[in-house]
Amino acid sequence: MLICDEYLTPASLDEAFAAMEKHRGHYRVVAGATDTLPWARQGRAGDVHIRALIDVAKIPELNEKKTGDRRVRFGAATPIQRFLDDPALGRAMPCMPRCAVWFADDQIRSLATIGGNIINASPAADGTPCLIAHEATVELAARRGGKTARRKMPLESFITGPNKTALEDGELLVAIECDALPGYGGSFEKVGHRRSLVISLVCLAALVKLDSTGRKIEDVRLAIAGIGPLPLRLAEVEKFLRGGPIGMERLERAAAMPVELVASRTRQEYRRDVVRGFMMRGLINAARRAGADAAALAPELEAAYA
Ligand SMILES: Cc1cc2nc3c(=O)[nH]c(=O)nc-3n(C[C@H](O)[C@H](O)[C@H](O)COP(=O)(O)OP(=O)(O)OC[C@H]3O[C@@H](n4cnc5c(N)ncnc54)[C@H](O)[C@@H]3O)c2cc1C
Repeated sequence: MLICDEYLTPASLDEAFAAMEKHRGHYRVVAGATDTLPWARQGRAGDVHIRALIDVAKIPELNEKKTGDRRVRFGAATPIQRFLDDPALGRAMPCMPRCAVWFADDQIRSLATIGGNIINASPAADGTPCLIAHEATVELAARRGGKTARRKMPLESFITGPNKTALEDGELLVAIECDALPGYGGSFEKVGHRRSLVISLVCLAALVKLDSTGRKIEDVRLAIAGIGPLPLRLAEVEKFLRGGPIGMERLERAAAMPVELVASRTRQEYRRDVVRGFMMRGLINAARRAGADAAALAPELEAAYA
């Protein structure tokens, strides 16, 4: 069981930093607590005692949202459910609703935050590949010398290893900013040990923008998690696909490219097959949602990877 002496709910960043200073070395930050509670139970016979739990979920700045033409900004305490409920977020981030719909269940989704998903940094966290495909940056804040100091860095370099990030002591994740990609078709593919309430073994985010003919790929973004210690942007595959036609042969060549990146120690052969299949299915689904010409995406090709 997780036991705390104080459960604090700061109403601002200033209040949160004051609580963190007061309980330095003896606190833990929580948002939805959907990773924290299982962590407190895992493999432990006894209780986990933390002096202060600092719940940042209600801090207004961590719940803000701004959707511009080029970039989207949303607070770290944005619950995963909001990517399903908020049409402006869904339009700007076309694979995020597809990720959210497969994320846990209704209850967990309404508590689990995107910030907690990033900071937990599970090698197969569902939120991170979508955000990496959107070239996300994270905004961090800390109280230094009596003032709030902020810094930004790309999400890809913020996650440094399994369950490891570049978050410094006393720092909070405040917001995430990423490319707005309306008009792209989005897809999110995920597989785990069972069909529902599943933590991913492998997951892939795909975003495709087609040219005006609906037959050529103008832009493509691909990111994958669960094949190694870190989520990866598939830049080489993107380069290969960008500007070319969508067709069976090209997609199959693209799908084979990331197979050699599988570095996980367990279930390697299985993960390689999954990667190849996900690449095909992800690209086809994203292209179809981007309005691909039906003749370019042959019906038999679509059916094979439906
Ligand atoms: C039944 C179940 C199903 C799940 N299914 C999925 C799934 O399908 N896909 C998936 O990816 N995950 C899944 N998870 C894992 C979990 O729900 C997610 O990782 C979730 O996004 C974590 O967010 P949270 O707000 O609950 O994190 P919390 O548990 O509150 O926090 C997680 C970590 O982040 C830190 N933290 C949180 N917010 C901040 C902040 N603003 N600044 C600094 N540090 C912060 C905390 O200190 C803690 O270390 C599941 C969990 C459960 C229990």
